[in-house]
Amino acid sequence: MLSVGVNGYGTIGKRVADAVRAQPDMVVQGVGKTSPGHVADNALAAGYSLYAPSDDEKASFEGAGTDVAGTVEDLVAESDVIVDATPGGVGEQNRTLYEQLETPAVFQGAEAPAVAETSFNARANYDEARDASYVRVVSCNTTGLSRLLAPLKETYGIETVRATLIRRGGDPDQPSRGPINDILPDPITVPSHHGPDVQTIFPSLSIDTMGVTVPATLMHLHGVNVTLESTADVDAVRDLLAKESRIFVVPESARIEGCGALREFARDSGRPRGDIWENCVWGESISVEGDEFYCFQAIHQEADVVPENVDALRAMFDLKDAAESIATTDERLGLSLRQRSRDSERVLTGRACDD
Ligand code: NAD
Repeated sequence: MLSVGVNGYGTIGKRVADAVRAQPDMVVQGVGKTSPGHVADNALAAGYSLYAPSDDEKASFEGAGTDVAGTVEDLVAESDVIVDATPGGVGEQNRTLYEQLETPAVFQGAEAPAVAETSFNARANYDEARDASYVRVVSCNTTGLSRLLAPLKETYGIETVRATLIRRGGDPDQPSRGPINDILPDPITVPSHHGPDVQTIFPSLSIDTMGVTVPATLMHLHGVNVTLESTADVDAVRDLLAKESRIFVVPESARIEGCGALREFARDSGRPRGDIWENCVWGESISVEGDEFYCFQAIHQEADVVPENVDALRAMFDLKDAAESIATTDERLGLSLRQRSRDSERVLTGRACDD
């Protein structure tokens, strides 16, 4: 069993810890947490040992009556590998400690690509992380684009990609983020930095992106146009995407008209925290005119990178090949929205869904 320490128990770290614990070949050694409070209390209640970044912070936990197993240095020494889910830039600082203790690490998307030997998306470049000591799981938006582009590139070839990323202003637990009542070109300059981040996964891909930030916490929404290298049939493209385990092609019959309904659907489906690990591509939005592909997809920013972290761990330790790892992760997490959509169709209309 691979012993995994999760350093940084926030939005991503708490979800990665739960996902690691659900796997048959890995365990959670403990979680690094900066301060006591409800998140730390819930981590303990979930059975995770807490480790504080320093002796001062350890004392603050003890002062609050919260059990601490040690410092983050102890956690790094006791773990086979660390998933670093601290805020952007902190991971880079932490790498020195990981190197000193010869503990491999997975970093997250806000770190610069140079923090790791390779950037990672399980569907697109799993093998590049095999036997690597430092791997960076790309951001939620880059993960979403990579999952969509990989099958299109393999099947039709890609001449160029243009995508507008309408991004949520913050996560639900971030009261200081915004805007509250505005719609921001973000960044105002074109193209945005997202295209180069996708190129850390597909180095020779021609891609331009534009960013917008809106007052929402639910999900990101991407409007994507891909010029393919060959002409395609719209039904064939829809089938191609529907076969991807981490793409949920939202059927028209489900009557899901926006990101709020998607999240409600996930909560009603019994997903933990209402998480949606898959890209959600509206089936009706998939359009193909000659070699031009278009679609809208929604990305649950808190969730889509979570299975990718699990697969990155398996790739680094050569535990399984890409297909086996993805299948195991998906099975253990329960990626079954597709099936559930058929169930909900039966409930809604009493007839089988033909999407
Ligand atoms: P977060 O602020 O929710 O969580 C970070 C956690 O790290 C917090 O619990 C914080 O207390 C802790 N922390 C801070 N300094 C620490 C230190 N020195 N040692 C140990 N813990 C420390 O952040 P997040 O949203 O989970 O983001 C973490 C990483 O994941 C970032 O690189 C981010 O870009 C990436 N990411 C975030 C999202 C998202 O939408 N939230 C999506 C994909 C990727």
